[in-house]
Amino acid sequence: MTKRKLFFLTAVVTLAAALIAAGVSCSSNNKDSADIIKAGGLDASEKTASEEAAGINLIEILYIEETPLINTFFLRLAETEIFLSPYNYAIIPETLRPGDPVTIAFGVAIKYADLIINGNRVARSRGFVIPAEDGYPSFNAAIIGIPTTITYGNTVIRITDTKDMIWEFNVNMEEREFRSENLYITPSMSDMVTTPDPQLDIEANMLWAILSTTGNQVYHTGPFIMPVESTRKTSLFGARRVNIYPDGYRVTNIHAGVDIGAAIAGESFLGADIIACARGLVVLSRSRIISGNTIIIEHAPGVYTSYYHLDKLIAREGEIVEMGDLIGYVGTTGYSTGPHLHWELRVSTENTDPESMLTRPLVDKSLIISRLYGTQEM
Ligand SMILES: [Zn+2]
Repeated sequence: MTKRKLFFLTAVVTLAAALIAAGVSCSSNNKDSADIIKAGGLDASEKTASEEAAGINLIEILYIEETPLINTFFLRLAETEIFLSPYNYAIIPETLRPGDPVTIAFGVAIKYADLIINGNRVARSRGFVIPAEDGYPSFNAAIIGIPTTITYGNTVIRITDTKDMIWEFNVNMEEREFRSENLYITPSMSDMVTTPDPQLDIEANMLWAILSTTGNQVYHTGPFIMPVESTRKTSLFGARRVNIYPDGYRVTNIHAGVDIGAAIAGESFLGADIIACARGLVVLSRSRIISGNTIIIEHAPGVYTSYYHLDKLIAREGEIVEMGDLIGYVGTTGYSTGPHLHWELRVSTENTDPESMLTRPLVDKSLIISRLYGTQEM
C-alpha cells in the first residue's frame, strides 16, 4: 500500500473515531443524505490481499496521526466561537434541474466540486471562499452549472477538499423539457458563419479563456434583476434550435441564453436601456463578429453574465458595475435577426438559465449558515 493511500484510509478512520468520541453528529438538515466519505478515490474493491493484511500497521499510524488530524478537521471561527465539522454542508437548491446553477457550501476548503451522473463527471468547478460580510461568517463554496444535455440517473455531488479527500452526496435531479424551435437564417447571417475568417477563432478562444477562468473575487451573492424592462422572451433558454439556412441547409444547436424582445411584439426595441443584472467586474466590452457589441460581467468565481447584440456599449472593461447600472443599449449587431437582448449566464463554463437567479440568491447566506451551524438564525 502506498503511503498516500494509507494516509487517506487513516484520515477516514480517524475522523470517524474522532466524531464518535466527540459526540458530533450531522445537523438535522443533513441526516437524510448519504454523505459518504470515499478515501482519495480508493474503493474497497481496489484493495489487494496484501493491503488487507497490512491492516495492523494502520492502527499504529492512526494513533500517531490522530491529534494533528483532529486539529485539521475542526475549524475554530474566532468571531463566532462555533466549531464547524466537515460533515456540515449545504447544497442549494435541494432538487436540481438541468440548466440550473447549484451552490455548494462546505465545512472545509473545496478544491473541486464535481457533478457526477451515472459515474461520469459532467461538470466541475473550483472552490472559493465567501468572505465574512453583513454579520455572516466566511465559508467555503463552489458553484456548478448543470449542463442542459445531461442524461438522467444516479446523481452525485463530489467534493475534493484541499487535502485530496473526497466526499460524496447524493442529490435529486428533476427532468426538464426544453422547447424546440426553428430559426430562419438570413443571407447576411449565413455569410457571417460560412465565410472563413481567422478572427472568428481568435474571438472564440478569447471568449473561452474568459469564461473558463475561476477568479477569487465575490462581487455579488443576491438574486439577479432583469437587465431590460421588457420580460417578453422571443427565445427560451436551452431551446433545441434548428437553424434553417436560405438554401435549406439545417444545423441544430442549443440556445445558450434567453432572448428578450420588445414588450409588445412589433414595437421598436432598438436603443432600450440594458442594466447590469447584478454587481460585478466588466471583463469584456467590445465588438465581436457573432455576438456583435458584447458585454461580459464576472459576478463570482466562475460566474459570468453576457449581453449580446448591443447597439452601443456603455460599461468599459475593468470597471465595477453595481446592480442596475446602465451598461449599454439594445441593438441587433452580429448574428441577430432583429433588435433583442441575448442574456446568458455561464457557471463553471456551462450555459445555465439566467432567469433561475431572479427568484433566489446566487449564494443564499442565511440558509447556508443555518445548514452549516445547525441554527435557524444568526
Ligand atoms: Zn439568443
